[in-house]
Amino acid sequence: MQASFHNELFLRKQAENKEKDIALEIDYAKLGLKVGLEIHQQLDTSAKLFCKCKPELFKEEPEITFLRKLRPTQSELGQIDPAAYFEFQKGVKILYEANKATSCLVEMDEEPPHPLNMEAVEIALTVALMIKAKPVDEIHVMRKTVIDGSNTTGFQRTCVVALNGVVRVGEKIVPIEHVSLEEDAARKMGEEEGNIIRYRIDRLGIPLIEVTTAPVINSPKEAGEIALAIGTILRATGRVKRGLGTIRQDINISIPNGALIEIKGLQELELLSLVVEYEVQRQLNLIKISEEIKERGVKGEEIKDEFFDVTDVFKRTKCKVIRKALDKNQKVLAVKLPKFKGFLKRELTPNLRLGTEMADRARFWGRVGGIFHTDELPAYGIITEEAEELKEVAKAEEQDAIVFVADSPENGRDALKAVMERAREAIKGVPEETRAPNPDGTTRYMRPRPGAARMYPETDIPLTYITEDYIKKISSRLPELPEQKLGRLMKEYRLNQKLARQILDSEYSELFETIVKESGVSSTTVAAFLTETLKSLKRDGIQVEKVSENQIREIFRSVSSKETTKEAIPDIVRWLSKHEDKNVQEAINNLGLKILSRKELEKIIENAIENNRKFVEERGVKVFGLLMGVVMKEVRGKASAGIVSELLRKKLEKYHHHKKVSPSA
Ligand SMILES: [Zn+2]
Repeated sequence: MQASFHNELFLRKQAENKEKDIALEIDYAKLGLKVGLEIHQQLDTSAKLFCKCKPELFKEEPEITFLRKLRPTQSELGQIDPAAYFEFQKGVKILYEANKATSCLVEMDEEPPHPLNMEAVEIALTVALMIKAKPVDEIHVMRKTVIDGSNTTGFQRTCVVALNGVVRVGEKIVPIEHVSLEEDAARKMGEEEGNIIRYRIDRLGIPLIEVTTAPVINSPKEAGEIALAIGTILRATGRVKRGLGTIRQDINISIPNGALIEIKGLQELELLSLVVEYEVQRQLNLIKISEEIKERGVKGEEIKDEFFDVTDVFKRTKCKVIRKALDKNQKVLAVKLPKFKGFLKRELTPNLRLGTEMADRARFWGRVGGIFHTDELPAYGIITEEAEELKEVAKAEEQDAIVFVADSPENGRDALKAVMERAREAIKGVPEETRAPNPDGTTRYMRPRPGAARMYPETDIPLTYITEDYIKKISSRLPELPEQKLGRLMKEYRLNQKLARQILDSEYSELFETIVKESGVSSTTVAAFLTETLKSLKRDGIQVEKVSENQIREIFRSVSSKETTKEAIPDIVRWLSKHEDKNVQEAINNLGLKILSRKELEKIIENAIENNRKFVEERGVKVFGLLMGVVMKEVRGKASAGIVSELLRKKLEKYHHHKKVSPSA
């Protein structure tokens, strides 16, 4: 099912490319694409990894908040992360939110961590053995420097559980470098005025399993397939959390002459191949731009840290953003990018230009809303006269580009310095960086790639020894492997291979078996709902994850007890997704989907015959199809087609019989 979704996106994109007359066929193997994946999946344990708190998220207002200053943590080698140091200088503060059920003094970093949660260790070892990885003898918990405030400690605890496994997809064999356990980070809730970032620590400490592949994946399609295969193995344990946000993938991508790019935190597996594809496209375009810039004879040292105050140029501007800044007594600062004209508007991937990359940097380092540049003028209310005057003040030549921002002089300078840095990098090619995925499969700048030495031992937690007996015990009760399960689903539930594969690849294989067993609704109906129907609802923008598994089970129980029909299921799910606190009964009542009694149905059918009397008399029994349509339109979701057809047939026969008999009587 993921494959078909991806194909759709791919085809749409190809069509777009055709429109723009771009021939885009990339031989990825020849290109030398290398992709490695890190899959992070929350485990479904009863407690967090280093304390007894409930591993759950809360929606209510926080019971506790506390403010901390971000301080750059120093690893043993004395390396300070540039992004962390920068934010520290800016005086960024973190406001943490918590409640008592989901956090204790451990999450607040007021108490040392408890020993490693052995339930999580057991799940991780189960996964490790399923992919033939070798468990370690001793588990050493390490600290990994984290720079953004998402951990109250300034580091994330992580430990390797097993090494050197293998995952197969068709002919492809992908080595798994390690299986690890990690504590999940706090979740970001937003940013406030005055450099305050809000994080909620309910998620902090939830156990995550991390499965890391070797960077041997050679195409976007393969990347999607491998991620899916690993996800299926994780779910086969039956002990991982499900739903959006419970699985996150980091993707490392590199091509020769490009750079190693880490894309962090992709949640939608269906987007994975597209993300890889776009990243290759982005790097190829950046390489091309760098070649062309060099041809124009631009050198990095020509891009000088020279700022022009161009506030006066915009004294009478109609541009709202600039107007607003000027009303606050802020300045418009500009820099010149020699011979860069035209490059800033060059598209790297859909909706992403070199200018966008510069704006991302400006936002991160300068905390500005965005940038303006001459490649896009006139626009945003900035007129040609202003653009011309701008060039004059900045002493720009015809081939130069000018970038400018309207903000406080301090932010403006930081933003423009970042823009110039990005421009110098554009001459060299592709800069190494950490990026974040956008909902359309493109990515944006997140932060510079952190240095290598980020790990040091966690001295508060004792070693955990993994004995051979313990491994034997876990080996003796390994869950069914995905391929075995595929065969069983086909046999036991008489599903065809396609549907069985879709159920297996979905998040719902367990739910599928539960529903079929308890409701007795046909296995094909249940399988088609859990795959095709849910997918198409999602595509329509319905937040199906808001409907719980218990509710889905209840819907099918209502179908089997004939309270509603299977045709009504999509409408019920749609309604429940928009009414989170309501139940299935209320959905059925509110939607008027309660199944009709035989009497009510008979009445509707009689009316239909009466209203279409003319056709009935002209066409005799041939009118059946037409009336069936009329009635079903009225009762869809409230009566099964089978019963309607049975009653309609009877009524029609009776009607004609009556007709034939009555005149002579
Ligand atoms: Zn706790």
